[in-house]
Amino acid sequence: MNAEVIIKENPTINDKPKQVKTRKKLPVVNKDFKLEKYNWHILRRVIHVVCVAVFVALPFFNIMRFDIPRQRFYFAGYEFWINEFAIIFFSLLFLMFIIAAMSMLYGRVYCGYLCPQMIFSEAAFNLEEKIKTFINKRFAKQSLNVRGWLNRIAVYTILGIASVFLAFVFISYFIEPRDLFGRLISFDIVTAGGFAGAVVTLITFADFAFLRTTFCKTVCPYGYLQGILGDNDTLVVHYRDPKEICVECNKCVRVCHMGIDIRNSPYQIECIHCGECVDACKSIMGKFGEDTLVHYAWGEKGELLGDKKAPWYKRIGLRDIKRIAVFAIILIYGTALFTAFSMRHSVMVTIAPNRATLYRKGEDGMIYNTFRMTLANRGNKDSTVSLSLDLPNGKINLPSNEIPVKAGDSIQQEFEISVPAKSLELEVNHFEITAVANPENTKDTFQETFIMPVETKK
Ligand code: SF4
Ligand code: SF4
Repeated sequence: MNAEVIIKENPTINDKPKQVKTRKKLPVVNKDFKLEKYNWHILRRVIHVVCVAVFVALPFFNIMRFDIPRQRFYFAGYEFWINEFAIIFFSLLFLMFIIAAMSMLYGRVYCGYLCPQMIFSEAAFNLEEKIKTFINKRFAKQSLNVRGWLNRIAVYTILGIASVFLAFVFISYFIEPRDLFGRLISFDIVTAGGFAGAVVTLITFADFAFLRTTFCKTVCPYGYLQGILGDNDTLVVHYRDPKEICVECNKCVRVCHMGIDIRNSPYQIECIHCGECVDACKSIMGKFGEDTLVHYAWGEKGELLGDKKAPWYKRIGLRDIKRIAVFAIILIYGTALFTAFSMRHSVMVTIAPNRATLYRKGEDGMIYNTFRMTLANRGNKDSTVSLSLDLPNGKINLPSNEIPVKAGDSIQQEFEISVPAKSLELEVNHFEITAVANPENTKDTFQETFIMPVETKK
């Protein structure tokens, strides 16, 4: 049976009403069609909730935080000191490389699914819509002007509170949260941390109250970068209508927070490949027993995402040698970083000779060489360090060979190593000092030299 179909949807703030150009006659074979439970919209919502939880949890549990006053970088349970800048630098570089690689393989998946700017902009849109609906229902008898003011007051109040919270979380990445909370409740805008908090709150409020996705379309460089990183095989959202059955309902346009029409091109700079228009079209075309006309596809000409006819490696995005190389680099880089993390000792020991004086002759007939030791406990438990050496007849002169170093402390200590005057034949004697940190039971060895006076030679 054929039926003439006119589709009307509730208008949203993104409405860009278009004139219905044509009315298509399509067989309505599935009047009870409902969009599947697991669609892109739901997936995005779940990912957004997880991202917000992660964004809040990272600084509060020291999973990732750069403590500027203490000059410490916390990452995945490790505490890095500023003198370990190399490992911090290469970790951040790795994260940036992953984002760039993801852009090449999967297009703007970061923008559509993970970007905080997008997540909070959409949340602000949705909040505004819900408040507008509530006020229009609750205060239906009030004038349009009064309802408009009520709407603005409610939206800006909630966004103001949310901005304080978000700015607090953001600044917590750089300042210890308890310290920051103290500054917040004392309305401190004089210290650098308090001032930064106030400025970030204002910027956050202006962003989510007024700027929102305009930021993505105008300021954010990532969208422009995508044009360089992507190619003909990159995942895009693409409109394909081989049967020419589009009913011009414009739902794909109305649901788009970026305010574009995906039918014009899959390569519009505003398109964040979020897939909302895929669901929108599916919800319309499904009613006619047809598949969506908007799909995720591997480039303009490539097969659709999830096409079972394609080999598995193509289905996960490894579509050419360039992508396989990028994937291999990620694996190698990640393995190297993991190895560097696992080889790192929480108690860092450095030992070097103090050659201001080459040696000292003691009245006890011993020859002394001086060494300088630095101990840095980068862990969260107190430790002790003990030294041993493989120098014949050598002795370490320390008050105690269990040197305590508290968690977070760094100490320097000089000590002497002595040998009997005639016990070594050479002027320069190579030996090894071993430092063991407990309770971690980590071991470091240092190749050193012991200098003897010339006259001690036989
Ligand atoms: S066109 Fe579709 S995929 Fe692109 S931003 Fe709009 S809704 Fe998302
Ligand atoms: S592509 Fe789909 S959602 Fe967009 S106007 Fe055509 S039928 Fe409607």
